[in-house]
Amino acid sequence: MDFQPKKFMSSTRHNWTKEEILDIYNKPLMELLYEAATTHRRHHDPNTVQVSTLLSIKTGGCPEDCGYCPQAARYHTDIEGNDLMSVSQVKAQALRAKASGSSRVCMGAAWRNVKDGPEFDQVLEMVRTINKLDMEVCCTLGMVTENQAKRLAEAGLYAYNHNLDSSEEYYKEVISTRGYQDRLETIDNVRKTNVTVCSGGIIGMGEKVADRAGMLVALSTLNPQPESVPINALVAVEGTPLEDQKPVSIWEMIRMVATTRIVMPETQVRLSAGRTEMSREGQAMCFFAGANSIFAGDKLLTTPNPDVSEDMELFKLLGLNPQKPFIKKMQPQTVEAEDSQYQDLGEKPKWTRPEHKIERNEEAKLKAKELTK
Ligand code: SF4
Repeated sequence: MDFQPKKFMSSTRHNWTKEEILDIYNKPLMELLYEAATTHRRHHDPNTVQVSTLLSIKTGGCPEDCGYCPQAARYHTDIEGNDLMSVSQVKAQALRAKASGSSRVCMGAAWRNVKDGPEFDQVLEMVRTINKLDMEVCCTLGMVTENQAKRLAEAGLYAYNHNLDSSEEYYKEVISTRGYQDRLETIDNVRKTNVTVCSGGIIGMGEKVADRAGMLVALSTLNPQPESVPINALVAVEGTPLEDQKPVSIWEMIRMVATTRIVMPETQVRLSAGRTEMSREGQAMCFFAGANSIFAGDKLLTTPNPDVSEDMELFKLLGLNPQKPFIKKMQPQTVEAEDSQYQDLGEKPKWTRPEHKIERNEEAKLKAKELTK
C-alpha cells in the first residue's frame, strides 16, 4: 500500500531561535531520535529515500577561497580540473545515473557566479536535455541574478543549490571572497521563480555547536523553507586550509540530521559528503533520524562517495525504496532557447568581496605557492 502522510495542520515554523534549536540538538539522544522520527513520519514516507547523482560539469580553477574546497585554484590539491563538459557527455552520464536508480541529477560548476554568455547557454541546454529525460535537474553554479534564475527556470530547472555552509559568524572564518548576504540574495533570486531551493551546510569545519544552530536558524526562518537541505560532514582534503580538521563523529551527524528534520519538517534532508566514513549502522540511524536523500556515485564532485551498488545493497537491507522523480512538485516545462522570453542581459553584477584575512587560508595559499615554484 502506498504511504500517505498524515493530514494535519502544518507545523512548519519560521521563527525558530538559536536557543530553541540548541535545546533540541542537545536533548538526550533517544528523545531526539524519537521526536525526529515522529516528525519525519508525519511528513514523509519513512521507507523512501531520494537518490541523486552529483556531476561536476566544470572542475577546479575556482577563484574563491572556501577553506574546505579542493577546487579553489589558490590551494594545492591533487584534483584534476576540467573545462565545461559537453551537453552530450552530460546526457550520457544522466542516462547512466537514471539506469542505476537516480531520480535527480545535480550539476556543479566551480564558478564564483554565473556569467551570461556561451558557457551559461551550454548549461541551459544541459538543463533542457536532462529535464527531457524525466529526471529532476538541479544546478549549483555559484551566485545567480534574478534574470539568470528565470532563464534556468524556463529551461526546466527543478532545483538550485546554494549552501549557506555555516552560521553567518563562522562563515567569515572559512571564506573571505564573498559574503553571506550574497548567498541569501541568490536564494531570494531563485525564489522569484518556480525553481525549488536546496541549501544546507557542512559540519566539522571547526565551528561550535552554536554555529550549527545558527545555520539552522538562517535556513528555517526562510519562508518558504528550502525544499532540500544537504548536511555534509567535512571531508578534509590535503592542501586545503581545513586539511587538519578531525572527522566529526557519527553522533554529531545524527544530532544534526535529527535537529534539521525537526525544525524543517517538510524538507528533504540530504545526507551528503562524508558518507564513506560512516558505517551502515550510522547511515541507518541518520535515515531513522529523518535523512531522506543521498547522493549516489563514486565521487561527490571531487571527494569520495560510496559505490552505487553498495548503496543499493544497503537500501535492500533496510527495506528502503528510491524515491520517484517529481513526487514533491510537478515536472517543469522546458522552453526551447529560440522561444525564450528572458534574454542574455550581459549582466556584470557586483557581488561583494569582503577580502578579510583568514590566517589558515593565507597559509594554505602560501604553501601552494611554495609547492608550485
Ligand atoms: S566551494 Fe564552490 S565556490 Fe567555493 S572554492 Fe569550491 S567550487 Fe569554488
